[in-house]
Amino acid sequence: MTHWIEEIVEKLAPRAEGKEFFVANGGLSVSGLQHVGRLRGEITIVDTVVRLLRKRGINAHHKLTLYTVDAWKGKDTQLSQFRDPEEAKTYKGWPLYMVPDPYGCHSNWVEHYWADFGNYLDQFSEKVEVVTTKDLYEKDERMKRFVLLSVTELREKVVSTINKYRGEKKLHKDYIPFQPICEKCGRVDATEAIEVDPVNYRVKYVCKNCGHEGWQSLTKGKLNWRVEWVGVWYALNVDFEPYGKDHATPGGSRDSCNELAEKVYGFKPPEGLAYEWVGYRRQGKDLGDMGSSDFIGFSPKQWLEVAEGEVLRLIYLSAPPMRRVVLSLEEVPSYYDEYDKAERVYYGVEEGDPLLAKSYTLSALKPLPEKMPFQLRYINAMILSQVLPSKGEDLNEVIARLRETKQLKQDLTDYDIHRIKTRITLAKKWLQLYAPAQYRITIVETPPVKEISKLLGDGVRELLIELREQLYRLQEWNEEEIKKTMMNIKKTPQQEKQFFKALYLAFFGKEYGPRLAPYLAMLNKDFVIQRLAEVTNSAKGEQDG
Ligand SMILES: [Zn+2]
Ligand SMILES: [Zn+2]
Repeated sequence: MTHWIEEIVEKLAPRAEGKEFFVANGGLSVSGLQHVGRLRGEITIVDTVVRLLRKRGINAHHKLTLYTVDAWKGKDTQLSQFRDPEEAKTYKGWPLYMVPDPYGCHSNWVEHYWADFGNYLDQFSEKVEVVTTKDLYEKDERMKRFVLLSVTELREKVVSTINKYRGEKKLHKDYIPFQPICEKCGRVDATEAIEVDPVNYRVKYVCKNCGHEGWQSLTKGKLNWRVEWVGVWYALNVDFEPYGKDHATPGGSRDSCNELAEKVYGFKPPEGLAYEWVGYRRQGKDLGDMGSSDFIGFSPKQWLEVAEGEVLRLIYLSAPPMRRVVLSLEEVPSYYDEYDKAERVYYGVEEGDPLLAKSYTLSALKPLPEKMPFQLRYINAMILSQVLPSKGEDLNEVIARLRETKQLKQDLTDYDIHRIKTRITLAKKWLQLYAPAQYRITIVETPPVKEISKLLGDGVRELLIELREQLYRLQEWNEEEIKKTMMNIKKTPQQEKQFFKALYLAFFGKEYGPRLAPYLAMLNKDFVIQRLAEVTNSAKGEQDG
């Protein structure tokens, strides 16, 4: 069986062979929140393709183009980032890179929103070469040549080709596909170029916003977006570029750009790959697709506070590209369970889908150890950070507890130790930031005996004593066995209610909490038996006395 991404690489190989270098590119407009959905196509897919090509001896590069000259739309969600949204309206139509940072900590809008994404890319990908359209227009000789061709020799063909895709609203035959930045009001979306001066590399324009008329350099502005996309391919020699599904419709933007590249500019457009958007779920509710200018979703920085990059890569690599993925920070423990499962399948410890194992190897950014590393479940890492006296800070204590509870039987490598430490740190943070309220518990030092005694009538005391005895006899102290033992004790519905309330009170000091078995499994067995004895005995005294 072949993994879908290997099929893509297979298709790209003939194009790549014999080339001095192969360029895979992703494109982003920094219009707001740079969310993790953008790590799917532009980062994970491109990175994996590039690395698989390199394995075939191809000199492949991963580029990422930021569309920083795009006009800032001034949507309500963007305006509300500013302390004074009214004043922010004056930035409408400005190139993104000219819009100020709403928080004042970076030099502009782009730098601010790029930081929580761009500064963390090395956790999700090998080296990414970041390019901005601003730099391409201002400094790149190939781009400059492309711009000039577009507004002179090839202009007419460009316009007629675009018009084939425009339906009713055709461009005028004299249209110049370049919008300069208005010197007076700063807008890049309101100007109309009316004359080209190729010798001085500039255009004459009128601004429909402020009425200004003047000359502007062709380095200060942007091409019509379809032409610009082709210009980026041309300037960077792009061979492969995935795209979000909205560009994928037949006769849609990607088709028109392919035709421009091939028929007008005479070069081979990059191979493409359509992929689905990534949705965002909070408190179990699907809030729709993540969106940059709508500020829906969360950033790579936020992901890395509670999870590792490889875990997200696995999610993206195991889903076919056109399947919608919905992410929620509240569900990180289950993402880790899936990751651990893929790991077990890869190491042959568990049977499963070989494609899942393949996705696991592709998701790895560092060399994988020869033997399967020790797996500390994410949720158990969290529990350890709650039940241990050092709250998981003391690694020796963590390891000792794992040995006591027989979860850890092997010798630990440095890799294992590092991983245990990482998981505890991440899970601890997750508990703080995203865990449902019932997880926020601590083990009480003294159980509230008085309250418990009120629940011990109707034979519940005897049931708890039975539980204690059965737990004491358990050979294996683990979640599964503890759960079975609790379930096997026969109780009426009324008894069951009191039974669990008493148990929650005994350990957490309140009448409810998360599922008990995983917590008891992480507690020292002697402690659990001791606590149950304490509760049943002394509560008896209270009740009798
Ligand atoms: Zn800032
Ligand atoms: Zn103007």
